[in-house]
Amino acid sequence: MTVLQTVSRNLEYHQRVKRVLPGGVHYNFNMPWAEVPLHFVDGAGSRLRDMDGNEYLDLYARFGAMVLGHRNEDYLDALSEALERVLCVSHCDFDADALELMNTHIPSAEMVRFGLSGTEILQTALRLARAHTGRNRFLRFENHYHGNADNVMGGRVLDPARPVPVDFRGDYKGTAGRATDVMADQSFLLPWNDADRLEDFFQTYGETLAAVLTEPICVNGGSIEPLPGFLELLRRLCTEHGVVLIFDEMITGVRLGVGGAQKRLGVTPDLSTFGKAIGGGGVPVSAVVGKREIMGLLESKQVIHAGTYNGYPLGTAAVKATYEIFARDDEALLHAMHRRAAALQDILTLEAHRVGLPLVVQGPPGVSAFHCRATPLERPSDYDFELMGKDIILATAMQRHGVLISSISRMYPNAQLSEDDLDFFQPRARRAVAEAKQSID
Ligand code: PMP
Repeated sequence: MTVLQTVSRNLEYHQRVKRVLPGGVHYNFNMPWAEVPLHFVDGAGSRLRDMDGNEYLDLYARFGAMVLGHRNEDYLDALSEALERVLCVSHCDFDADALELMNTHIPSAEMVRFGLSGTEILQTALRLARAHTGRNRFLRFENHYHGNADNVMGGRVLDPARPVPVDFRGDYKGTAGRATDVMADQSFLLPWNDADRLEDFFQTYGETLAAVLTEPICVNGGSIEPLPGFLELLRRLCTEHGVVLIFDEMITGVRLGVGGAQKRLGVTPDLSTFGKAIGGGGVPVSAVVGKREIMGLLESKQVIHAGTYNGYPLGTAAVKATYEIFARDDEALLHAMHRRAAALQDILTLEAHRVGLPLVVQGPPGVSAFHCRATPLERPSDYDFELMGKDIILATAMQRHGVLISSISRMYPNAQLSEDDLDFFQPRARRAVAEAKQSID
C-alpha cells in the first residue's frame, strides 16, 4: 500500500520555489495537494510520480485538460511532427484539419477562431455578443466559472427577488482588487436550474441583454446537470428576446464527446467556448465557435480578436490529433473511458457506504464530482462552504493515499485509464474514506 511515506524532497524543493513564487503555486484555486506541496517528475498513462518517488493516480488531470493521459503515443507523434516542422508561424498546414474537425463534430461550430486560454476566449465571445446585439449586459449564474477576468468572477445573489445587487464578499472564486464598476455595469447574476426565476428575469430584462453565459453542465458548481427543460427554456427565451446564448464548454468539450455537451444534450447555442481538453491537455489552446452571422463580425473586422500566438502550429496540431483520436470508431476510446470512470465512481461510493460516510457521485462520467452528503445537489447555489469543507477533507485524504482529485471533488478520467488503475484505486479509496469519516465525524 503506497501511503505517502516521505515527502521530504517535495517539501525542501517547495521552500526553494516559494522564495520567488507567491505561495509556491502557479494558481490559487483548490490545489489537490494543498496539504503537502507536490512537485512531479514524470508521468505515464494515468500515473504521476513526484520528487520523492511516490506514485499517484492522476484524476486531477490538470483541471481536466489532460484527457489523453500522460505520454499518449499518437498524440506525442503529432506534437513531435509539429515541433520538428515549424514551431512558430501564423498559419500552417495543420489549420484546415483542426478547423474542419471542430466544424464537423460540434453542432454550433459553423465557424471557429482559436485562442490560448479559456479566460481570454470568453471575453471574445462576450464582445461578439455585444457587437451583434448592440447591448451591453449579460446574464451569468451562481457558482459557474468562466475564467479569471473581473467581469465574470464570483458573486452571490443578495436578494432572491432581484438579480442585482450582488454580494462579492467572501464568495467562492471571488477576488480582491476587482474593478467594481465593470461588475455592477456588466452582468446580472441568477441561481441556475430555476425556470421560474429565469422566466421572470427575462420578462423584465430580456430586451436589455446581449448574452446569457452558462456551463451546459455546471461542473464548477459541483457537476450538476441541467434539470429537464432548463436549457431548452434558456434557448427559447434567448431566441425570443434576440439574446446570444453562449455555452462555456471549457470542461465538457471533448470529455463528454467530440460534439461536446451541446450534442449530447441536444441544445445548440449561438456561440460556444472551448479549451483545456481540445488540445489533448499537453498544450494551451482555446476556441470560440459559433454561428456564421455572429462569427462573421471577426471577418469584417468590426470585432477585434487578436493574440500573438493564436492558431500557433503546436496548438492546431494538438487539436487535430485530439479530435482525430477521439472521433475514431464512433468515439470508442471515450466510451471506454466513461465505462472505467463509472467503475471508479461505483468503487468510491461502495467504499464510503461501507464505513457509513454519506457520499454521492454526480455528473456524467468524464466530468463527475463526489460530495460528502446523501443526495445529489440540485443547484450550484447549494454547493456551500460547509459541504466544500467536507469534500476537501476527503480529497486531501485521497491525496495522502496516492489519488489526486481536482478542484475540491472532481475525478477526471483520461483515455488511458485501465483495469490496473481501478485496482490501484480501490484500496486507496478504502483507506481515504475511513480517514475522512473520522475527521468529518
Ligand atoms: N470556463 C470554465 C467552465 C472553466 O472551467 C475554466 C477553467 N477552469 C475557464 C473557463 C477558464 O479557462 P482558463 O483557465 O484556461 O483561463
